[in-house]
Amino acid sequence: MKLFPKRLEGREIAIDVRAANVGKYPEALGLNPRFHPDVSRLKLQLSIEWDPEVPEEAIRRLLGSLINLSPSLKNHSCRGPKEYQVQQPAAPLSEDEGASVEPELALVHLIEHVMIDVVAFVTGSRTVSGVTGAPEDLSRPFDLFIDCPDPAVARFATHLTLHWIVTLLDGQSLDGTGPSTLHLARHLYRHRPHAINSFAAAKKMGKDPDSVKRALDWLEEKGFGCRVNHHMNFSGASYYRLCQG
Ligand SMILES: [Zn+2]
Repeated sequence: MKLFPKRLEGREIAIDVRAANVGKYPEALGLNPRFHPDVSRLKLQLSIEWDPEVPEEAIRRLLGSLINLSPSLKNHSCRGPKEYQVQQPAAPLSEDEGASVEPELALVHLIEHVMIDVVAFVTGSRTVSGVTGAPEDLSRPFDLFIDCPDPAVARFATHLTLHWIVTLLDGQSLDGTGPSTLHLARHLYRHRPHAINSFAAAKKMGKDPDSVKRALDWLEEKGFGCRVNHHMNFSGASYYRLCQG
C-alpha cells in the first residue's frame, strides 16, 4: 500500500514528504495547549522549495482558492502571528520594506490548516488541533503535528492537501479531485468497517457512477479506500472500505 506521497512538484514549487507517522508524540504537547495527551496525532516532516515574487499575494490568492474548496477554513481559530493568520493574510508591503512573511513558513502553516479542515470534515470531530514547527535552521524540514487517530485519514489528508496546493499553485484543474472527493471520503469513513459500493455511493451523492468510480480509485491509490472483492458480484459495482492501519 502506498503510504504517503514522497515528492510533489509543480513548475514553481516542490514539496518533499521526509517523514509521516501517527503516534502520541508527547514532545508536541508543549507546542499547543489544546493538544491532549491521549489523542494520537500525525507528525509530518516537510521540505519545501517555493519562492514566489510577492509571497503575500501568492498566499492570499491560494487561500482564496482553498476557501472555495473548503469554506470552513474561514472559521478556524488561528493563534499564529498576525501576518500568518488564515483569517487575515498579510498585505504586501512596499518594495523598501521587503516581504512581511517567509513564504515557505506561510505555506506550511496553510498546509496545517487545510489538513485540520480535511481531518475534521472526514471524521466529524468538532475539534482538531495542530501546530507548525519552524526549524531554526531553514535547511531542515518543518514539523507539523495534527490530531488524527486514524492512519488512513492521515494519509488521505496529506495526499489531498498537498495535491490541492501544488495543483492550485500550478494553475491546473483539480479535475474530479475537489470537494466531491472529500465528501466521498467522509461517506466511506462513516460506513467503516463496512464497504460501500460505487453505484450506491453515486446515487446517494447525485453524481455519475463513472466519476465516483474514478474518485474511489484515487482513494484506493492513496491508501484510504481498500477494494473488497466479492466472490458473487454480478452487479458490476465495485466495493471499497476504509483501509485499516
Ligand atoms: Zn494558524
